[in-house]
Amino acid sequence: MNYDVIIIGAGPGGIYSAYELVTNRPELKVAVFEAGNVLEKRHCPIDGEKITKCIGCRSCSIMSGFGGAGAFSDGKYNITNDFGGTLHEYIGKQKALSLMEYVDRINMSHGGEGTKLYSTAGTEIHKICMQNKLKLLNASVRHLGTDINYIVLENLYAELKDKVDFRFLTPVRSISREEGGYRVLTDDGEYTCGKCIVSVGRSGSKWMQQICRDLEIPTRSNRVDIGVRVELPAELWANLTDELYESKIVYRTEKFEDNVRTFCMNPYGSVVTENTNGIVTVNGHSFEDPARQTQNTNFALLVSKHFTEPFSDSNGYGESIARLSNMLGGGVIVQRFGDLIRGRRSTKQRIEEAFVMPTLKAEPGDLSLVLPKRILDGIIEMIYALDKIAPGTANDDTLLYGVEVKFYNMEVDLDEHLETCHKGLYIIGDGSGVTHSLSHASASGVYVAREILGM
Ligand SMILES: Cc1cc2nc3c(=O)[nH]c(=O)nc-3n(C[C@H](O)[C@H](O)[C@H](O)COP(=O)(O)OP(=O)(O)OC[C@H]3O[C@@H](n4cnc5c(N)ncnc54)[C@H](O)[C@@H]3O)c2cc1C
Repeated sequence: MNYDVIIIGAGPGGIYSAYELVTNRPELKVAVFEAGNVLEKRHCPIDGEKITKCIGCRSCSIMSGFGGAGAFSDGKYNITNDFGGTLHEYIGKQKALSLMEYVDRINMSHGGEGTKLYSTAGTEIHKICMQNKLKLLNASVRHLGTDINYIVLENLYAELKDKVDFRFLTPVRSISREEGGYRVLTDDGEYTCGKCIVSVGRSGSKWMQQICRDLEIPTRSNRVDIGVRVELPAELWANLTDELYESKIVYRTEKFEDNVRTFCMNPYGSVVTENTNGIVTVNGHSFEDPARQTQNTNFALLVSKHFTEPFSDSNGYGESIARLSNMLGGGVIVQRFGDLIRGRRSTKQRIEEAFVMPTLKAEPGDLSLVLPKRILDGIIEMIYALDKIAPGTANDDTLLYGVEVKFYNMEVDLDEHLETCHKGLYIIGDGSGVTHSLSHASASGVYVAREILGM
């Protein structure tokens, strides 16, 4: 065997697997194969001036490379079993929380010290939400910020690079079974290992499907979240964001009894684009450094769509909606809430005259031509509900960017060790469908490393 363990993907799942393996057993031969680039060479070409829109790079620097999809994220590290994945269903609630706390301590000792840990425990906001038909979910949130998150990754890489064989710009093409382990095929050659950890995240979702088909690993798939990113003056939400930083709030619509929820809140942040498999969607982040902050807060409002038989391509459904917005707007569309309610498109002039200055250059348009009525109705209802706890949310000038799609990987059939039906082949992180967040993905990495180490 070339390696004791091969890890595929250098996102949080892969990094923390590698960290735990070589920290506890330095003599192990561990390799990480990563489709994207080393951290310092990860640059999105969008500069807001010469290049304002996604140009569809072969490997998206936002999604791929050391640090994975989380590298330029806002670094909101949620310590909770209430959202961010279902890791606790496999390994137990207490274990999941203690692993998230363990990773938080590693982050703190690698550059994150001094960052704030927010908590929903004992907050009055629970009651205010309940009084207005909203539900605040429980969590502790460490806000690293895009800048500190980057420093933590730099420090982790500095510590690991001489102990782990990192191979960047080396996508794994296939995995096959081998006597006593696995063989992975790359454009540079073939490598063998005793154990294989697959942690390919969302950007590896299509590849993951193929691998599961090839190795006959059962999967399930039925969910996609679709919605918009809301941007408004930061003062309007300061009563919530100052205390909680991120509040995960759920609203049940009166019309269809669908759940709409806030997601990925970025106080004083910026709206950004994201390219998943060539489809441009919207996302957001913010910096811990006040010099890099903006006047605006942004967050997503998402509606989950669960499909039943015979339809099973939930991601395909989400992609089609995102493609429609890309077709109409050439990328992301922005619309004033007031224009949406009046049934008219936003124009360049209306956006320029508005009191909220957009942090992303997007094409003014009409989101009602893109989003299905049921989803749009739910979002509008929730904006009015949020207006009661943060007055001004439903102002005409509130900006809505679309579409935001949260693709879920299909859920791979795994046992309580996060192991597939093939002994020694583990699937972790967002690529497994078990996690959807930095904390759960990182914790799943540590968990599997300890399983391999027999700890
Ligand atoms: C803009 C943005 C902001 C976010 N903000 C937050 C946040 O604040 N808080 C939070 O909890 N979550 C956030 N997330 C989600 C979070 O980043 C992910 O949940 C997390 O990164 C998942 O970790 P992972 O290791 O499973 O996968 P990823 O981080 O996606 O890493 C997978 C890696 O595998 C590589 N790969 C894929 N296929 C192959 C292959 N065939 N061969 C080799 N390598 C391959 C990819 O290049 C990638 O680097 C954000 C995501 C984005 C995109």
